[in-house]
This record gives sequence, C-alpha cells and structure tokens, in this order.
Amino acid sequence: MKTCPICKTKFEDSADFCPKCKAQLEEEKVVVKKEKEKIPKSFWFTLLGVFGFILLVILVYNIMYAGIA
Ligand SMILES: [Zn+2]
Repeated sequence: MKTCPICKTKFEDSADFCPKCKAQLEEEKVVVKKEKEKIPKSFWFTLLGVFGFILLVILVYNIMYAGIA
C-alpha cells in the first residue's frame, strides 16, 4: 500500500504517482517500520514468557513443599 504525501489518499503498490496531485507516492510500510522499532513485540513476549516460567516454577515448588510438610 502506498500513500500520497499531499492528499493522504491510499493507492495500490503498482501506482507511482497520485493522479490528483501528480506527487510521488510514499510507501506506507516505511512509516509502520519506524513505529515498530521503538518497542519490538518479540521483546515483550520473551519477557512475559520468562516471568510466566518463573511464576510456574515458584508455584510448583510451593505446592510440592506444602505437600511434603
Ligand atoms: Zn494526492
């Protein structure tokens, strides 16, 4: 998907110029990429996974300890 920098109209990837403004179209993907670079989603998923694993280990340890005692 491409967007006209003047009228913000969206066009197909095959289009190069806006028929109304005659302006060169900009790739919408570039704008999305910049936003994603700030906080990568994979980082939060890894963090969640690590915390989830630690919580599970503590939970299992407590259940086993309570069972023995
Ligand atoms: Zn335009």
